[in-house]
Amino acid sequence: MPARNILVINCGSSSIKFALVNEEQAAFPLQGLAERLGSPEAVLHWQLGEAKESLDIPHADHRAALERLLPLAQEAAGGHLDGIGHRVVHGGEHFTGSTLIDDAVLDAVRTAAQLAPLHNPANLTGIEAAMALFPGLPQVSVFDTAFHQTMPEYAYRYAVPEFLYREHGVRRYGFHGTSHLYVSKRAAELTGLPVNDSCWLTAHLGNGSSTCAIVNGESRDTSMGLTPLEGLAMGTRSGDVDPNLHNYLARNLGWTLDQVDRMLNHESGLKGLSGLSNDMRTLYEARIAGHAGASLAFEVFCYRLAKSLAGMACALPRLDGLVFTGGIGENSSAIRARTLEHLKLFNFKLDDEANARCIRGVAGEIQATGSPRVMVVPTNEERQIAIDTLTLLDA
Ligand code: ADP
Repeated sequence: MPARNILVINCGSSSIKFALVNEEQAAFPLQGLAERLGSPEAVLHWQLGEAKESLDIPHADHRAALERLLPLAQEAAGGHLDGIGHRVVHGGEHFTGSTLIDDAVLDAVRTAAQLAPLHNPANLTGIEAAMALFPGLPQVSVFDTAFHQTMPEYAYRYAVPEFLYREHGVRRYGFHGTSHLYVSKRAAELTGLPVNDSCWLTAHLGNGSSTCAIVNGESRDTSMGLTPLEGLAMGTRSGDVDPNLHNYLARNLGWTLDQVDRMLNHESGLKGLSGLSNDMRTLYEARIAGHAGASLAFEVFCYRLAKSLAGMACALPRLDGLVFTGGIGENSSAIRARTLEHLKLFNFKLDDEANARCIRGVAGEIQATGSPRVMVVPTNEERQIAIDTLTLLDA
């Protein structure tokens, strides 16, 4: 049987990220981004092999953009696409794993949209457009939340009245599941430990960031909750704040719930603390140049991360390794080093040379002799979505 090709699609409200994943090739034959969809500036960017190209697609919506990228995907797949894997943000409690899409699945994704009103409708738009355009092709949805459905109840319940959980789904779900799953499996592979007998702490640090405790291939706790706002300080998200902050701001500043929501999701985190940027690279350079806000943002990010990892350790019977991933985790040796300085009780120590070497896609162990294992493992959510899609095709 020739190596199979899966088109992976990740639809945002005005964008589509896509990649063609071949089961036997490490590099993606095709990848790209359609952005500013629905506007006069809509544009499709793609990379086919080494060649990068762009095409203006004014006013194109999701379906029109998919229509443009279909021939590209077919060409890159040598005329044979085997399936499509869709990233879906929220699967609620309904989905404990990836699933082949049918009408019942679409209904359940629609129901879960009340938990992710910004994300699930965009994901659905992409699924419906792709199903109309590729009716004969198996399509699979892969949920950010599904991996965390193995959390024990004492980890996923909030200490709020029971009916809010029973009747309204108020509980911790967690996100970034595809990434936490992928890097923990890779870490096991790289160290020769069996997935089903290994214990990991993982830190996915990108624009959104979360930590996870993984035991024998299952998530036991994670830092994000009902929404991706809970937990770590992120690019523009506050992470944990006092739950009474809404009330305080309403009483003292007359803010509406929408204003508080916007501030916590879009004006906080690294951006809010630094007053400069949500981008860790920019902050790192500004910190070296003496920018006080950038230094504070860097310090808060690392301390909160260390605190979260220490908390996640409660879910582990032992620790086989701490894994850094995501744009920041994979590239910032300074963040890794500073975070571990706050975890002295765990006896973490870094090999500075190995820490400096593991950037830009280089994976490896970076601990010094005598320290618990610390690893850098580049994430690959597209690959994991393709793996899940292929597994369902095989079944
Ligand atoms: P997303 O969550 O949108 O997928 P990424 O995982 O690509 O984002 O991570 C983006 C973050 O990674 C940004 O804050 C960016 O500044 C940071 N980053 C990328 N390279 C470096 C680097 N060399 N040093 C520090 N931060 C970096």
